[in-house]
Amino acid sequence: MKVAIRDDDTSFFTQPEQLEAVYHDVWDRVPVCLAVVPHAMGFADKAIPEKYWQTHRPFPLEENPAIVARLRELLSAGRVTIAQHGFTHEDFPDGHEFQAAPDLESRLVRGQAYLEHLLGTRVRVFVPPHNALSKRGLRAISGAGLNLLGSFLSFRPSLRPWEPQTLPNWWRVRAYRTATGRAKRDRLIYPYVLRYRRHAEFGCHGLIPGTTLEELVRGFEEARQAGGDFCLATHYWEVDGTLKDVLRRFLDHAERTPGVTFVAAEQLFDVRH
Ligand SMILES: [Zn+2]
Repeated sequence: MKVAIRDDDTSFFTQPEQLEAVYHDVWDRVPVCLAVVPHAMGFADKAIPEKYWQTHRPFPLEENPAIVARLRELLSAGRVTIAQHGFTHEDFPDGHEFQAAPDLESRLVRGQAYLEHLLGTRVRVFVPPHNALSKRGLRAISGAGLNLLGSFLSFRPSLRPWEPQTLPNWWRVRAYRTATGRAKRDRLIYPYVLRYRRHAEFGCHGLIPGTTLEELVRGFEEARQAGGDFCLATHYWEVDGTLKDVLRRFLDHAERTPGVTFVAAEQLFDVRH
């Protein structure tokens, strides 16, 4: 069983010490997949320091040389991998970035190339801001051949671009829902990779304020008994002492479990042999 960690929202606004505080004793146990915003927009948001709330311009990651240098070090030490998290992470009047931006394809291509060039690494995974994705957004990601890490992605064929795998995958999720005794509206995180023509998708379990160790262990045990994998998703900027403790105890639980391998989130998509 593969277990991975994804952390969202590293950007121009991130100080290296913030990542250090959460992961200094984690990333040597399990590499952390940092979902990075290439050109983060300055606006009023909990993830952004208040002095930037009125700036309303995008800040390229390279304008913060300290975070760039630290990310390069962490990459070469194998402590982190880099995923793409939107392009500006801004909201539009009618939705989040990858629901509503007019130029999704170019945001994907520019953002991926920017991160790869600046940090000297490959980017194979995309995380949509707010886990929100329109049909058009999904089509753009598939077109770019990026794998998708999400939470609560919709599997309904009507909300997805059509391709031959859409219906069989929907049936797979439905069969799992039935097998686990869930009703239509019950929360479900499907524990296997869903493969489509040009990309694959995997859902993560959130670690947010209020998440308990028991909930995570329950989700982990369900995935394990189903022969699936597990990815934990969090935001460094909201990890306080309580969440950090949940994180550490969850990793202890996973580490004690026979057959568990900690992997970088990218490896969740590798084909099993
Ligand atoms: Zn985000």
